[in-house]
Amino acid sequence: MEKVRIENVESRTGPADVKRPLTRALGATDLSLNYYELAPGDSFAFGYHAHSNQEEVFYVQSSTVTFETDDGEVEATSGEVVRFAPGDYQRGVNRGDERVVALALGAPQDSGDLDLRRDCPDCGERTTNTIERAGDETGLVTVCEDCGAETGRFD
Ligand SMILES: [Zn+2]
Repeated sequence: MEKVRIENVESRTGPADVKRPLTRALGATDLSLNYYELAPGDSFAFGYHAHSNQEEVFYVQSSTVTFETDDGEVEATSGEVVRFAPGDYQRGVNRGDERVVALALGAPQDSGDLDLRRDCPDCGERTTNTIERAGDETGLVTVCEDCGAETGRFD
Protein backbone atom coordinates (compact mmCIF):
# COMPACT_ATOMS: atom_id res chain seq x y z
CA MET A 1 0.00 0.00 0.00
CA GLU A 2 1.12 3.53 -0.73
CA LYS A 3 -0.35 6.78 0.54
CA VAL A 4 0.52 10.25 -0.68
CA ARG A 5 -0.57 13.72 0.32
CA ILE A 6 -1.24 15.34 -3.06
CA GLU A 7 -0.03 18.80 -2.01
CA ASN A 8 3.39 17.29 -1.17
CA VAL A 9 4.01 16.22 -4.78
CA GLU A 10 5.86 18.89 -6.75
CA SER A 11 3.94 20.60 -9.55
CA ARG A 12 5.14 20.39 -13.17
CA THR A 13 5.51 23.18 -15.71
CA GLY A 14 2.84 23.16 -18.39
CA PRO A 15 -0.53 24.46 -19.51
CA ALA A 16 -2.11 23.91 -16.07
CA ASP A 17 -1.47 26.15 -13.06
CA VAL A 18 -0.96 23.00 -10.96
CA LYS A 19 -0.16 19.51 -12.25
CA ARG A 20 0.97 17.04 -9.62
CA PRO A 21 2.03 13.71 -11.16
CA LEU A 22 0.95 10.96 -8.78
CA THR A 23 1.92 7.89 -10.80
CA ARG A 24 5.47 7.49 -9.53
CA ALA A 25 4.63 8.92 -6.12
CA LEU A 26 2.19 6.05 -5.63
CA GLY A 27 4.32 3.47 -7.41
CA ALA A 28 1.45 2.79 -9.81
CA THR A 29 2.38 0.14 -12.37
CA ASP A 30 -0.53 0.07 -14.85
CA LEU A 31 -2.26 3.41 -14.34
CA SER A 32 -1.15 6.98 -14.98
CA LEU A 33 -2.60 9.50 -12.54
CA ASN A 34 -2.35 13.30 -12.39
CA TYR A 35 -3.92 15.90 -10.11
CA TYR A 36 -4.77 19.23 -11.74
CA GLU A 37 -5.82 22.70 -10.78
CA LEU A 38 -6.71 24.93 -13.71
CA ALA A 39 -6.80 28.70 -13.33
CA PRO A 40 -9.26 30.44 -15.66
CA GLY A 41 -7.97 29.96 -19.22
CA ASP A 42 -5.72 27.01 -18.31
CA SER A 43 -5.83 23.58 -19.91
CA PHE A 44 -4.92 20.02 -18.98
CA ALA A 45 -3.11 19.56 -22.27
CA PHE A 46 -0.64 21.41 -24.52
CA GLY A 47 -3.15 21.21 -27.36
CA TYR A 48 -5.83 19.17 -29.06
CA HIS A 49 -4.43 15.66 -28.90
CA ALA A 50 -4.88 11.91 -28.98
CA HIS A 51 -2.93 9.05 -27.46
CA SER A 52 -2.80 6.06 -29.78
CA ASN A 53 -2.81 3.44 -27.04
CA GLN A 54 -4.26 5.01 -23.89
CA GLU A 55 -7.75 5.66 -22.63
CA GLU A 56 -8.17 8.73 -20.43
CA VAL A 57 -10.72 9.47 -17.72
CA PHE A 58 -11.22 12.88 -16.13
CA TYR A 59 -12.97 13.35 -12.80
CA VAL A 60 -14.03 16.95 -12.29
CA GLN A 61 -14.03 17.67 -8.57
CA SER A 62 -14.94 21.35 -8.74
CA SER A 63 -16.06 23.95 -11.28
CA THR A 64 -16.56 23.17 -15.00
CA VAL A 65 -14.24 21.89 -17.74
CA THR A 66 -15.04 22.45 -21.43
CA PHE A 67 -13.68 19.64 -23.59
CA GLU A 68 -13.07 20.16 -27.27
CA THR A 69 -13.84 16.82 -28.93
CA ASP A 70 -14.46 15.44 -32.40
CA ASP A 71 -18.16 15.53 -31.47
CA GLY A 72 -18.02 19.23 -30.59
CA GLU A 73 -17.66 20.87 -27.20
CA VAL A 74 -18.68 18.95 -24.10
CA GLU A 75 -18.93 20.49 -20.64
CA ALA A 76 -18.16 18.43 -17.55
CA THR A 77 -19.05 19.88 -14.19
CA SER A 78 -18.31 19.08 -10.58
CA GLY A 79 -19.17 15.45 -9.84
CA GLU A 80 -18.99 14.25 -13.45
CA VAL A 81 -16.52 11.90 -15.14
CA VAL A 82 -15.55 11.82 -18.82
CA ARG A 83 -13.82 8.99 -20.70
CA PHE A 84 -11.92 9.19 -23.98
CA ALA A 85 -11.00 6.03 -25.86
CA PRO A 86 -7.52 5.49 -27.29
CA GLY A 87 -7.27 7.58 -30.47
CA ASP A 88 -9.98 10.06 -29.44
CA TYR A 89 -8.92 13.69 -29.87
CA GLN A 90 -9.67 16.04 -26.98
CA ARG A 91 -8.57 19.03 -24.95
CA GLY A 92 -10.06 20.18 -21.66
CA VAL A 93 -10.00 23.93 -20.91
CA ASN A 94 -11.23 26.04 -18.00
CA ARG A 95 -13.43 28.66 -19.65
CA GLY A 96 -15.01 29.73 -16.35
CA ASP A 97 -14.08 32.28 -13.71
CA GLU A 98 -13.23 29.81 -10.94
CA ARG A 99 -10.44 27.31 -10.51
CA VAL A 100 -11.00 23.76 -11.71
CA VAL A 101 -9.85 20.85 -9.55
CA ALA A 102 -9.70 17.52 -11.37
CA LEU A 103 -8.04 14.12 -11.56
CA ALA A 104 -6.89 12.57 -14.83
CA LEU A 105 -6.42 8.81 -15.13
CA GLY A 106 -4.82 7.07 -18.08
CA ALA A 107 -4.24 3.41 -18.84
CA PRO A 108 -2.06 1.77 -19.79
CA GLN A 109 0.81 3.97 -18.60
CA ASP A 110 2.55 3.75 -21.96
CA SER A 111 0.24 5.97 -23.97
CA GLY A 112 1.74 5.14 -27.35
CA ASP A 113 2.14 7.90 -29.91
CA LEU A 114 0.99 11.41 -29.02
CA ASP A 115 -0.56 13.41 -31.85
CA LEU A 116 -0.65 17.03 -30.69
CA ARG A 117 -2.41 19.68 -32.81
CA ARG A 118 -2.18 23.44 -32.36
CA ASP A 119 -3.10 26.47 -34.41
CA CYS A 120 0.07 27.64 -36.19
CA PRO A 121 0.00 31.37 -37.03
CA ASP A 122 2.65 30.93 -39.75
CA CYS A 123 0.93 27.99 -41.48
CA GLY A 124 -2.49 29.54 -40.94
CA GLU A 125 -3.99 26.24 -39.86
CA ARG A 126 -3.93 23.63 -37.14
CA THR A 127 -0.80 21.51 -37.47
CA THR A 128 0.99 18.71 -35.67
CA ASN A 129 3.26 20.02 -32.92
CA THR A 130 6.02 18.75 -30.66
CA ILE A 131 6.77 19.78 -27.08
CA GLU A 132 10.31 20.98 -26.47
CA ARG A 133 12.35 22.59 -23.72
CA ALA A 134 12.59 26.35 -24.24
CA GLY A 135 15.96 27.62 -25.45
CA ASP A 136 16.47 29.62 -22.25
CA GLU A 137 15.63 26.51 -20.19
CA THR A 138 12.92 28.34 -18.24
CA GLY A 139 9.95 26.46 -19.58
CA LEU A 140 8.48 24.48 -22.43
CA VAL A 141 7.46 25.46 -25.94
CA THR A 142 5.26 23.86 -28.57
CA VAL A 143 6.71 23.85 -32.08
CA CYS A 144 4.96 23.37 -35.44
CA GLU A 145 6.37 20.27 -37.17
CA ASP A 146 5.60 21.73 -40.60
CA CYS A 147 7.36 25.12 -40.37
CA GLY A 148 9.25 25.16 -37.06
CA ALA A 149 7.34 28.12 -35.63
CA GLU A 150 6.81 28.37 -31.89
CA THR A 151 3.06 28.09 -31.26
CA GLY A 152 3.03 28.31 -27.46
CA ARG A 153 5.18 28.90 -24.39
CA PHE A 154 4.59 27.44 -20.95
CA ASP A 155 6.48 28.60 -17.85
ZN1 LIG B 1 3.58 26.09 -38.98
